[in-house]
Amino acid sequence: MFTVSNVQSAFRSVRELEPEDRLVLLSRQETLVRPRGGVPELPTVREAVKLAGGPFVEIGHFEGGRCFAGRLSACPERFPEGMELWAGRAILAAGAEDTRTALCRGREMFLWRDQHRFCGGCRAELSPSRKDLAMLCPECGCMYFPQIAPAVIVAITRDGGREILLAHNRRFADGVYSLIAGFVEAGESAEQAVHREIREETHVEVDSIRYLTSQSWPFPNSLMLAFSAEYAGGEAFPDGEELADCRWFRRDALPLIPQPGSVARLVLDRFAAGEL
Ligand SMILES: [Zn+2]
Repeated sequence: MFTVSNVQSAFRSVRELEPEDRLVLLSRQETLVRPRGGVPELPTVREAVKLAGGPFVEIGHFEGGRCFAGRLSACPERFPEGMELWAGRAILAAGAEDTRTALCRGREMFLWRDQHRFCGGCRAELSPSRKDLAMLCPECGCMYFPQIAPAVIVAITRDGGREILLAHNRRFADGVYSLIAGFVEAGESAEQAVHREIREETHVEVDSIRYLTSQSWPFPNSLMLAFSAEYAGGEAFPDGEELADCRWFRRDALPLIPQPGSVARLVLDRFAAGEL
């Protein structure tokens, strides 16, 4: 069981960690894991000490021990027995919930601390606040909190929920269609973002917006807010920039959809089961 820690501390070196502490060791989009029966687990300091470059930031507690996030020291040609580098998305798809939570927390906390070392106002070196989960400027008092970028992702249905509007984004693999998604702009509500994104990307209008679920998506720092909405008018055609295609699909004739692990897949599975 992973519990989030709001402990604020300076970065730590590997020598300050205990042998049974767990590590989220990051290498760009990948993380070091020890798969057991196909389920990725986080290694302990004892197991991964030679690969742990640091510095490390404390992110929580994992089955009694502390958990730290840091950078992989180097990428050897071969990892120690039982250790593998897994893409973050694969861990979200296959990992237990506590491993997934630790990964999301670890990626976002480490990148936040790594990228907030100096004050953007006065250039002084920042230090961790003793009271808040924030980096504090000792000169001008500016505080820098972890930053999360909210995004909306929407299942647009019609014909009594039997058809869904899906899109092929130019970044997707060939033939893969998914839900309409986009970032919430500054000053905008999530519902306003739903209307705007759908209008901009597919040219249709929706109503009856309903919140479904959410998911941390730390690539690098998103919070995905999933909604359903009902088609209310307009002819669907792609914006020609982000989207190469968009079209209606019936529940029993869905195209290729995203792999398990994403909130898009979770919502599409619910649609396929007639649960939206
Ligand atoms: Zn400052």
